[in-house]
Amino acid sequence: MKTLNDFNFENKKALIRVDFNVPLDANFNVTDTNRIEAAKPTIIKVLEDGGSAVLMSHLGRPKGERNPNMSLKHIADKVSEIIGVQVKFVEDCVGEIAENAASALKPGEVLLLENLRYYSEETSGDQEFAKKLSKLGDIYINDAFGTAHRAHASTTIVAQYFEGHKCFGQLLAKEIDAIDKVMASGEKPVLAILGGAKVSSKITIIENILDKVDHLIVGGGMTYTFVKAKGGKVGDSICEDDKMELALEILKQAEAKGVQVHIPVDVIAADDFNNNAKTQVVDVDKIPDGWQGLDAGPRTLAIFKEVIKQSKTILWNGPVGVFEMENFAKGTISVGNSIIEATANGAFSLVGGGDSVAAVKQFGFQDKVSYVSTGGGAMLESLEGKTLPGIAAIVE
Ligand code: AMP
Repeated sequence: MKTLNDFNFENKKALIRVDFNVPLDANFNVTDTNRIEAAKPTIIKVLEDGGSAVLMSHLGRPKGERNPNMSLKHIADKVSEIIGVQVKFVEDCVGEIAENAASALKPGEVLLLENLRYYSEETSGDQEFAKKLSKLGDIYINDAFGTAHRAHASTTIVAQYFEGHKCFGQLLAKEIDAIDKVMASGEKPVLAILGGAKVSSKITIIENILDKVDHLIVGGGMTYTFVKAKGGKVGDSICEDDKMELALEILKQAEAKGVQVHIPVDVIAADDFNNNAKTQVVDVDKIPDGWQGLDAGPRTLAIFKEVIKQSKTILWNGPVGVFEMENFAKGTISVGNSIIEATANGAFSLVGGGDSVAAVKQFGFQDKVSYVSTGGGAMLESLEGKTLPGIAAIVE
């Protein structure tokens, strides 16, 4: 796997696929700069070597049409401020004006191209479009993990034109490394904590992960499908009846593979899906009708804490309760705190995929775990064991 440090960018133009799909407010101010900051180390390495950088990204979903509300010109000043270099902007990402702007670039300079998705050829992975993009640089760098699961022109197809002259950016390399630590080279015991709403959306991950982990914590809404399948009473809790057989199959597979599965033993049950609902702590398999489990209970959290404390490698995907409601966030906060403690004691912890990242940010855990993934869908597909096209295109 080639990374940035395998190249010297002196007098070279790096064509960098970044993920600058950042949120903008009504006045087009960037409201979350994380993704720009995450791309900074790669850009700086190119510039410090004496090279120049051509940055390409999508923003929003313009669906193949020029849409001024989704122009990357809105973020040019913010990118300049963050990387400390005045960024030039060009109002197209291919064709004569883009090529002229790229060829006029001197060492130390940065050019930001217009939104790739103004062209439908980007998402369809069009060969000709990718070829046009490839004219804008000498070396291709993919640093956009958030789109690495898409075989788009700028994330995958363009790499064909850079044989021997392509590599991962620092951010993408860090993501790959973090996934590898959990899925392949993690110190044992390895623990996966899978929460979230539904078994159906996590099933491929569970199946893939059973071969890699020693412990599996199942939490959140998924709990009730498992509990009901084992004969428990789950009241009005979220439950996928058509997945009960699958849940039993997973438990059987886990046992055969020597994976210890930890399912909640008690829950905070509510009489409504509402922050102000009445609540009671009940055994997970004795939830009365009219009540639904919305968070893990105290005995459960004590067990989870013990398991987390003993683990050396931890993957966390999905909240263990309805953390968006304050009264049902305690379980997720407790799990987060246990992971932080384990991390401080030397464990490697990766948080990734969808809502667990939102939870980690909401509760301020992000700097205290080992790594928070920047890609929702891309992380989920990695955990499912899929090879991401954007990664394969660089490795080939
Ligand atoms: P996911 O995107 O699959 O990770 O699901 C995250 C969502 O699961 C969050 O919005 C949580 O509110 C929700 N969730 C977690 N626990 C429960 C539960 N016990 N009942 C209903 N929804 C839940």
